[in-house]
Amino acid sequence: MTGPVEYDVPGFGRVPVVERPCPACGDGVSARSERADTPPEWPLVRCGGCGFVYLSRGPDYCALYTTMAWERTTHVEEHNRAELRPYSYKFSKMTRWRMGLLPRTRPVDQIIRHARPGNIIDLGCGDGGPLNRLPDAYIPHGIEISTESARQAQKNFAARGGEAVNDSVLAGLGRFPENYFNAAVLRSYLEHELQPRAVLKALLPRLSPGGVALVKVPNYGSINRRVMGRRWCGFRFPDHLNYFTPARLRSMAEECGYRVEFGLTGRLPTSDNMHAVLTRP
Ligand SMILES: [Zn+2]
Repeated sequence: MTGPVEYDVPGFGRVPVVERPCPACGDGVSARSERADTPPEWPLVRCGGCGFVYLSRGPDYCALYTTMAWERTTHVEEHNRAELRPYSYKFSKMTRWRMGLLPRTRPVDQIIRHARPGNIIDLGCGDGGPLNRLPDAYIPHGIEISTESARQAQKNFAARGGEAVNDSVLAGLGRFPENYFNAAVLRSYLEHELQPRAVLKALLPRLSPGGVALVKVPNYGSINRRVMGRRWCGFRFPDHLNYFTPARLRSMAEECGYRVEFGLTGRLPTSDNMHAVLTRP
């Protein structure tokens, strides 16, 4: 990636932005446009080398602490989405109904099912609230780039013996020792990450052998994405930088050294999201 350049971003003012090569294979020259109807300031492209779909431009990490913190981008996105709503509202309600039929995938249930008690880390932990229900045998940690959310998470986690770090995930992971975590939670996180491959690589040695990374990410291979086109709920510009299909998630994780399992319901084409368990062998 080259150094950041400042752009005027509607709703946010001047924002430092970086050009991105393919986050899966590093190819920086062969990308071509994936859709003609996406915002011109955030080009959605498909890598000519490996086929991965991604935004070829994204806000630099330093913009995410405050200016484009998740709390603010969500607010602007809801405003933008209102214009698309007359057509998509009904489908979005149907999607929620469908999700009710799937097995429970709340983070705490998933951790208890897949991870041994001990240290747990949530990447992009927000205010840490979802981990409050963890049994005491699990010690919650997190990394969160939004300064305001990280402060709240630190309150929640410190009370239980853990810690929240206010940094990019890549830099924050470097502060923890190897073989430290029995599980990492990557829920609605990898799609936001400038460098998803580098993060998966950095996480692996910090998991204990047999430790797991629990991933939830929008499924670019879903039927709904094809039906809805530009109105698909997984499109968020520039919040969502990476557009994984099950095959692309598998290949990136396997190349980083993980064993990958989706289970019976983890990659249904009828769901807008997919769930994978990545295990350190
Ligand atoms: Zn590529």
